[in-house]
Amino acid sequence: MKLTSALLLIASANAVQLPFAIPSGVKSALHSYGDSISSLRDRVHLPQFLKNLADPIAASPVLSLHRSLVEIPSVTGNEHAVAVWLADFLTTNNFTVETQAVGGFKGDRLNVFAYVGKNRTTHTLITSHIDTVPPFIPYKAAVSTIYGRGSNDAKGSVAAQITAVRELVKDGVLHEGDVAMLYVVGEELSGDGMKAANHLGVGWKSVIFGEPTELKLAKGHKGILLFSVVSQGKASHSGYPHLGINANSHLIKALARLDDLHLPGSDLLGESTLNIGRIDGGVAPNVIPAFAKADVAVRVAGDLDETIVMIKDAVKGIEGVRLEFMDVAYGPVELDYDVEGFELTVCSYGTDVPNLKGDHKKYLYGPGSILTAHGDNEYVLKSDLFEAVNGYKKLIKESLWPTKRVPDIIEGKGVFDMKFAHPEPEPVSVTAVKVTETLGMHAPKHPKREGFAADSEL
Ligand SMILES: [Zn+2]
Repeated sequence: MKLTSALLLIASANAVQLPFAIPSGVKSALHSYGDSISSLRDRVHLPQFLKNLADPIAASPVLSLHRSLVEIPSVTGNEHAVAVWLADFLTTNNFTVETQAVGGFKGDRLNVFAYVGKNRTTHTLITSHIDTVPPFIPYKAAVSTIYGRGSNDAKGSVAAQITAVRELVKDGVLHEGDVAMLYVVGEELSGDGMKAANHLGVGWKSVIFGEPTELKLAKGHKGILLFSVVSQGKASHSGYPHLGINANSHLIKALARLDDLHLPGSDLLGESTLNIGRIDGGVAPNVIPAFAKADVAVRVAGDLDETIVMIKDAVKGIEGVRLEFMDVAYGPVELDYDVEGFELTVCSYGTDVPNLKGDHKKYLYGPGSILTAHGDNEYVLKSDLFEAVNGYKKLIKESLWPTKRVPDIIEGKGVFDMKFAHPEPEPVSVTAVKVTETLGMHAPKHPKREGFAADSEL
């Protein structure tokens, strides 16, 4: 029997009658050994290199925080446990923490808002989301890769952001009033967490959003427009089609027209894309279908209003066909990228950026790739998490103490560097970067329906 096993036996014998008394100090010391093998590992004073060998994840602040976050399931609507854990973690690490209740899903849903000291109004906000798409996939660490739901989108960003802030505070770079952190629920559906954050009563000069961008700084991302094409017909025997109205035939005609549309795009974001994602219609081959419906998502790269008009015009005049627009609709989002040292990119997915109101600068950056988010094999590279800590540190510092430069401007096909070291940039033509940021709801409002996820990110 090993010594530790003997100690555990004595500690557990605490609960039974012993023929001799154990001094209380010894008793509590022994009892503490019995908590669990993992706590035993933490309590035994092994040299650091042995601890690192036994649990290399625990030896890294960003990896251990990331593991804790990913291990707690937090599919949208069920974010309570991860929010409580995170609030506790940030409190333990000397941040002032507020939680904000978010409605919906009948759950106890909480945004987590944290800052240094008493000043809740800060220059910069760093933020991401703590909900994930379903289903939960357990955490698994391999040599260079970490798997699990949310490992990439967006708990990789959350862990790297918090680690960056902690290290900058520890190094004396950040002080009260510099940076706040906000971790919201609900990003993967309707953005209700970030929309609730508009009621926190604070605003910022700069906001750094964390989403998978492959460690690149995003120049902009496409907007989204979700709608259904509904076709109403009349049932009849398939041998006598003239007695009915074929809803499927009319839906097919409408979808063919939509599929052929060339929707407005932009130089910055390229083309809008239209996806006919789901089709339902009819009941049997020998029945003229009375009802058919298709769900469509447009990734909007150009003007939203113009896009909606073109879609409406395309299906005009088709018997029994109407459009039902979801209330999630926004145009392209223009981002800030006036920080040197980052590769630049544009994104075709939606984010919480348009849900946070205010006249702040908007940066979008994070570890992992959107191409591996939301899938069965979601993962992030450990090296991405380490590099993202440095990337976020750089963005935070630049947001607070910007080096004097203005952004590159795309002019036609070329990209040319603008002048450096001009505190007030001279006015330049930005016609080629004409991106309409439309944050309002441009479509008729309809209640959300089951089976039509307003997922803004895949
Ligand atoms: Zn995300």
